[in-house]
Amino acid sequence: MTGKETRRLKPNEHKGIPASSGIVIGKVYLIDRDNFCVLKHELRPDEIDTEIEKFKAALDTSLMEMSEIKDQALREFDDELPFTIFDAHTQILRDPSMAKEVERIIRDSRCNAEWALNILLKGYHARFSNIKDKYFRDRLQDIDQVVTKVLRSLVQGEDAPFSNLDEPVVLVAHDLSPADTLSLNQDMVIGIATDAGGKTSHAGILASSMDIPAVVGLKDVSRKVSTGDPVVVDGNAGIVVTMPTNEQFMEYNTRRQKYVYYDQALHAQKDLEAITLDGERVAIRANIESSHDLVHLEEHGAEGVGLYRTEYLFLNSSSLPDERAQYEDYKKVAEAVGKNHAVIRTFDLGGDKVGKYMDYADPEPNPALGLRAIRFCLSHPDIFKTQLRAILRASAHGNLKIMYPLLTSLEELIRANELLAEAKEELRKSGDPFDESIPVGIMIETPSSVMIAPELARHCSFFSIGTNDLIQYAMAIDRVNERVAYLYQPLSPSILRMLAMIVRAADEAEVSLSICGKMAGDPTYVMLLMGLGGVRDLSMDVHSIPRIKKFIRSIKLKEAQTIASHAISLGSTEQIKEYVVSQVGRFFVDGVSSDLVENDG
Ligand code: PEP
Ligand code: MG
Repeated sequence: MTGKETRRLKPNEHKGIPASSGIVIGKVYLIDRDNFCVLKHELRPDEIDTEIEKFKAALDTSLMEMSEIKDQALREFDDELPFTIFDAHTQILRDPSMAKEVERIIRDSRCNAEWALNILLKGYHARFSNIKDKYFRDRLQDIDQVVTKVLRSLVQGEDAPFSNLDEPVVLVAHDLSPADTLSLNQDMVIGIATDAGGKTSHAGILASSMDIPAVVGLKDVSRKVSTGDPVVVDGNAGIVVTMPTNEQFMEYNTRRQKYVYYDQALHAQKDLEAITLDGERVAIRANIESSHDLVHLEEHGAEGVGLYRTEYLFLNSSSLPDERAQYEDYKKVAEAVGKNHAVIRTFDLGGDKVGKYMDYADPEPNPALGLRAIRFCLSHPDIFKTQLRAILRASAHGNLKIMYPLLTSLEELIRANELLAEAKEELRKSGDPFDESIPVGIMIETPSSVMIAPELARHCSFFSIGTNDLIQYAMAIDRVNERVAYLYQPLSPSILRMLAMIVRAADEAEVSLSICGKMAGDPTYVMLLMGLGGVRDLSMDVHSIPRIKKFIRSIKLKEAQTIASHAISLGSTEQIKEYVVSQVGRFFVDGVSSDLVENDG
């Protein structure tokens, strides 16, 4: 498990980005939703009528499916869903001008129905592209969805209801949104492989909290498999093997057994504290995405919750949970952490985390740079205050802290605190008890917040570094875009220098500091982070906890400081990587390895 991967990849071994650890061998379930590979076929004159019949049959199938889905939804949700959408889609499907146009294209261009639909869609896009009116622009989305549905009937013959699986499968898809991932049936999905995605995309983070091995950023793996194919997903090495040979099957099975064996051994020591050989104690906490994850805290030896990503409460529900529902949820968290604490992060909606039924914001051309996180909350003070009141009320039941995400300016922090003060005042008036001195902190995850950290520190009591976003915004890369994933470099000098600045600012201002980005779950980075200064509080996905605890028990703070101070003096990512890998590897023991060493970052 330690040491660099040296074996050359075979043609059926695809290298991607490891997003969630573990190794599984299973059968592919291909989700080919939006990414149809539509090719043009020239038809012979005698094939044209049959092709038109095929198209009409697909239209009928889509209409039938639409009415079945509507009936089922009516049974399940009563009147909770916006059912008019089904009627709008049915109308488009029944629109005679659409069918006529497709027929015309098939006849005139002598092409297959899929190609004709594609041409039709392009025509609609060209005509709609100049329309400013949001209502009409949204209708184009409806047309897209309807045409996709017919295409699916033509291409696959059926829909892909991946929340409804009846046997264990490895999901292979072009992309999975966080909302998709949340709706997976955890008992049936044993592995995930996607073309898109980066190391810290939220679908990967969720897969990891669901303990489903996942590899993302595989570029085109979804085009190389079919449903039912055997496949291996090695979420440790970031490799997917399509149609494994007997030899590969045995090799990966051995790796899997070894991984499980080490994992069990690490778990046996999960409750030992993370204290370095020279006596420095580090708190190791869990990142959670739902109060259902609380059951994993004890299993993995977590000391409370360092980050609760509350926006997942919202992603798959038809509306925002009200104050009472949120209060009940946060109360469970407060009660579960006992003498430890839980950091409740206010909604980080936006970016790639857009609710299925979220109609609060128009689609944005650059969501990662758009109305996300604290910006969204400050522009919807009613939503924000509802959440703040719910957290405050829950603070009467245990040790909670409040944390705001994605700050870029002092004004945002001051405004957020004003709204918090208003929420407190409202609760005082209504007589609801809460922790009057609940600590308030911020995520440092934008370069701007790094630069003004000393000023921000005067208005809050703790910092938590979100390295996932800090790297995204510092390197100007979209963290879900696999094409720029190579620039996700925690060891770039710019990132290390920013981290050192934050550590210094926190030390000087005497605000406490933790790290909750993915870097906190990798031993190599942990050594550097501890060595940079007073980082003694780490929060990570629960599966990383036992190995990080063990790693910390096998190092000395003094050595970490020596390595960090030399690393930060180097001027290029390559130099830093080479140096750090040469230094840190000697501290690895069985079961404790690093992504950086195994996978070159
Ligand atoms: C981060 O950005 O590092 C972080 C922990 O928050 P999230 O991954 O939810 O954006
Ligand atoms: Mg973040």
